[in-house]
Amino acid sequence: MGKLSDLGVEEVINGLSNKSFSAKELVQTYIDKILEDKILNAFVRVNPEKSLKNAELSDDRRKRNKVLPLDGVPIAVKDIFCTKNEETNASSKILENFVPQYESTVTRKLLESGGIIIGKTSMDEFAMGSSNETSNNGVVLNPWSKGEKKLVPGGSSGGSAAAVSARLCSAALGTDTGGSIRQPASFCGVVGLKPTYGRCSRWGIIAFASSLDQAGPIARSVRDAAIILEQISGFDTMDSTSVDKKVPNLLTACSQSIKEKTIGIPGEYQISGLSDDVRNIWKQGIEWLKSAGANIIDISLPHTPYALPAYYIVAPAEASANLARYDGIKYGFRANNITSLDDLYSKTRSEGFGAEVKRRILIGTYVLSAGYYDAYYLKAQKVRTKIVQDFNIAFEKCDAILTPTTPAGAFEIGEKSHNPVEMYLNDIFTVPASLAGLPAISLPSGLDNNKRPLGLQLIGRPFDEESILSVASVLEDSANFRSMEIEQGIVS
Ligand code: GLN
Repeated sequence: MGKLSDLGVEEVINGLSNKSFSAKELVQTYIDKILEDKILNAFVRVNPEKSLKNAELSDDRRKRNKVLPLDGVPIAVKDIFCTKNEETNASSKILENFVPQYESTVTRKLLESGGIIIGKTSMDEFAMGSSNETSNNGVVLNPWSKGEKKLVPGGSSGGSAAAVSARLCSAALGTDTGGSIRQPASFCGVVGLKPTYGRCSRWGIIAFASSLDQAGPIARSVRDAAIILEQISGFDTMDSTSVDKKVPNLLTACSQSIKEKTIGIPGEYQISGLSDDVRNIWKQGIEWLKSAGANIIDISLPHTPYALPAYYIVAPAEASANLARYDGIKYGFRANNITSLDDLYSKTRSEGFGAEVKRRILIGTYVLSAGYYDAYYLKAQKVRTKIVQDFNIAFEKCDAILTPTTPAGAFEIGEKSHNPVEMYLNDIFTVPASLAGLPAISLPSGLDNNKRPLGLQLIGRPFDEESILSVASVLEDSANFRSMEIEQGIVS
């Protein structure tokens, strides 16, 4: 057996049940690695005592033959999930010292299935960003950076993706509003799965854009992502948008044949800014699926070009409403030297929010304001409906859609941070599935010219995570990304 920290979720579950090691040993290994790391800055907080205590309890359950599905598996959690009595800041100054009195449903489910929360990971402030550079906790380094070239891990779940890639946890949780699980997964060479809107409860997750936000796993393999998603899914009376549907056995889905499956290739994703490397990987993916017996067809999603502009109206609009609650009274940070109540609000918000968050609030309030509402917000909602219809029509002919996850590989820190539009263009392939509430997965499929990871994305029908998992498993086997990780020194 290799190093303990090299083991993914499934291997950890097997190793623990064979008694090859204990949960305590495993958790200690990760804690040491996290505390030793002075380069990546992926974690914002760890609580070694609590994690080790939970590991001991897990080992004890195992001795008593009371094993739970994720018993002893060390999982990192994006700092957007409220964790009871544990500080949660969403990487924002305005939530400084905020200690929730409740546990998010998703992290509660993780704990109830025996998972060990190994720490909280950095993110773009309030999940707004594609590079982790808007975090109040400083930038996170992509573990694939080499020499002088310091790469972003992607965002907003950049800390989680970097932590999984660097083997600082067995798997992690992220959230995805317009691509924040899939894009960082693609940049860091790991698997990211955004479930169908409503598959997981949003209760206790700090809200960005409530009609889009979804929690999901970031993991080293498709099977690991399936194992985690199965545990965190399900109806929750605390979130009226969670859906009362039976959660299927997602691990079984990973080994289903794709011979009967039809995969759609949307012409509209052939945009001009697509790098040749990405184009080639996409073609390669099509060939892999053909060899596995899948039927490949061309499809059209005609409203795709309007998805990004619509997203950057809907998401900021919802954000401006959700973020109204941070006023210096109820949560976290409060500004000093206040002269009046209005002064308290404005000083707290001016000092507490970062530049990108302020930009979103300004855009959001503008598109919702009287006189502009119809021209922007209402129009964007109509576009959203058109995008849903495009997918509905496409899914009459195919079972899953294959696209690249991003138009190019990871970029350098600072390269795009002064040009918001260029930054937003990162999300061009991920936002359509978000607007339509569809499940989508990104899996590492190859490297670009500069030896940076590239992901392929599969989009599925609502609540059909099973199909994208089965197709993703085939791509994963063909890509053999692990050999590239070894070759590039990411794992030994
Ligand atoms: N990058 C996108 C944004 O900044 C998506 C973020 C997300 O999915 N949370 O809005």
